[in-house]
Order: sequence, then structure tokens, then C-alpha cells
Amino acid sequence: MARELDRSTIKARTSRFVLNIILRLGRYAVLPVVALACVILAVWLMAMDRYTITALVTAPIVFSIVLGASALAIGLLLLPSRKHREFEANVETAPGLWAMWTELDRNFARSRRTLLINTDFNASIGEVSRYAGLFGQHVTMTVGLPMLIVLDEPAVRAVIAHEVAHAELRHTSGCINLADFIAASENVFLYANPEWTITGRILRVLLHSLLEWLEREYRALSRENELHADLSSTERVGRTEAARALVLMEACGTRLADLVYKPLETEMLGAINAPPPPFERIFKQLADIWAPEPIAAAATAGLTREHEPDSTHPPFAKRLANLGYAEIPDIRGISTSAIDQLLARDAAKDIPARFDAEWRKKAQAWVTVGR
Ligand SMILES: [Zn+2]
Repeated sequence: MARELDRSTIKARTSRFVLNIILRLGRYAVLPVVALACVILAVWLMAMDRYTITALVTAPIVFSIVLGASALAIGLLLLPSRKHREFEANVETAPGLWAMWTELDRNFARSRRTLLINTDFNASIGEVSRYAGLFGQHVTMTVGLPMLIVLDEPAVRAVIAHEVAHAELRHTSGCINLADFIAASENVFLYANPEWTITGRILRVLLHSLLEWLEREYRALSRENELHADLSSTERVGRTEAARALVLMEACGTRLADLVYKPLETEMLGAINAPPPPFERIFKQLADIWAPEPIAAAATAGLTREHEPDSTHPPFAKRLANLGYAEIPDIRGISTSAIDQLLARDAAKDIPARFDAEWRKKAQAWVTVGR
């Protein structure tokens, strides 16, 4: 019994140790594996003279290991860079958002910042430390334009406070490193195709369980981080505002899907010409999206909505409970859009128009091909 216990503690400790290395080093965590393969190759070459038969028998194994490690190393070096499909917003474009970020972030002066605007109903924050952090951190926050349009200013403030908490609690670097490592490990199959090569096949078996475990750990870690960030954001905006933002994100997300995204998808199916684009629709439907009764219904439905098992976010009900609410709190509704306060007047018109134009171009091509 005691022995069993020991073994499981050791296993748990080793897991934590490996995970910590990956969190620290990101994709460079494959380097120890590559180094180990080099040592194996060196030993094998030295053994060649004295134990020729053994060396020859083990040759396929050693070659597979070395080839696998080289593929890993190549995958690491040629990791495809993340492509930006976002719009970078400077202080002139988004004065209100920058002011909000500066005000909420106590470490603002310490690192360089980039603010991106994309088309998701969401926000996120990421951090890159270049050259092992020697030149400081670079923090990038991405804010979704639909959120700026649909939410009001206090709700956006609470969301930004949540993102700032992620950065302050150092959630950002670890998660990005882990994601990077997973991407680098998967990248290996571009160079050692498991369908065609034996090395690839062996690697797939080895990496499969490692990646599965890592992804599980990654999800567990992200969910834990969400709850910590929610709690920490209450120190900046208060519990009431944090809970209100949670409810509004949930309910408005449902309303947006029902009133804008789902109809758009349906219209696309039978369309000859591209239907009206997303942001034009969002602006037109704002009053309906904000209508109090459906918002309340969507929030209540959110409490029991089936949770996706591989989501990086905890269920809505759990996040509310984390803030001390067993049910949907009474919140004030939305009557103004945050976009006018947070973006410059021109930008508030130009950015949605630009995203719509991009969308129209793609949709038109899609519709034409579909015919
Ligand atoms: Zn978060």
C-alpha cells in the first residue's frame, strides 16, 4: 500500500516536473530529447568497434531515435509563426481602450504593449519574452470588435480587468509555451510523415500519449487560471461588475449567435450574392440583442448549458459560483455601446467597415465557387 502510494507520488511529481520544464522552455523543451538522442548516437558509434554484432542489431533502433530527434529539431526550428489576421490599434485609434488598459494594469510601464482588434466576441492576452526574457516582456492584448459594440463600457472594463489579471498572475507565458510545445511536437509530422516513414510511425506512438497528456494538463491549467483571473479582476472592478460582465458575455454571446451568426450561415447556403456582412447586422440588431427578457432567458439557459469537455474555460455556472453567486444576479441591462467611448470616432466607423469589406470579398468568392 505504502509502496503504491510512493509510486503514485513519484509519478505525480515527475509529471509536474516535466510540465514545469515545458511551461518554462516552451518549444525549446524538445532540446533535452534531441541532446539525449545525440548521446545515444555517440555511445552507439563508440560501441561499433568493440561490440560490432550488438551495434549492428541495434542499428535500426538507434537510427530511428536519431532520425526522430532530427525531425523534432527541424520541427522546432521551422515552427510556423502565428499569423495575425487582426488589426493593430494604436493610441490614436483606440484612446479609450488604451486609457482603460493603462489604468487597470499596475505593471503597465514595465513591458511593451500591443493592442489588437479582431472579429471574435472575446478578448485574450498573450506574452512573449524574447531571448529568455533578457529584453523584457512583450504583452499583446486582443479585443474582439463585436464585444466593443455589444457590451457597454463598464462590462468591457471588467473583461479587460480579467485579461490584465491573467498577465499579472503570469498565466500568459506558461500557456503560450505549452501551446508552442504542442505545436512544435505536432510539426514534426510534417517532416516525418507517419503514413510514409517508420520514424514517423514510431514518433506518433511516442508522441501520441505525451500530447494527449499535455493537452489534458493544458485544459486543466487554463480552467484553473480562468477562476483565478476572475477573482483577481474583482479587486479592480468589484464583484458586482465582474459578475455582470460574466452574465452579459454569456447572454450576449447567445443572442449574437441567434440573431446574427446563425441567420448569416443559413443565408450563405442558398445565396447567389453575398448576404449583408456581420458587423452591418450587429449594428442593425443592437436593440434586439439588448432586449432584457431574451437576455435574462439566455443567461438562465447558460447555467445549465452542456459544457464542452475539451473547453479551456470552466462552465459559466462554476465561474459565477467562484464569485459567490449561486444563481444569475440581478444586473442592469445595456443601453449604450462601448465602441464610441473606447475607439476614436473615425475608427469606430472604419474598423467595422474594413472587417465587413474583407468578409464580403471572401463570402463573394465562396458563393461564386459554390454555384
Ligand atoms: Zn480568461
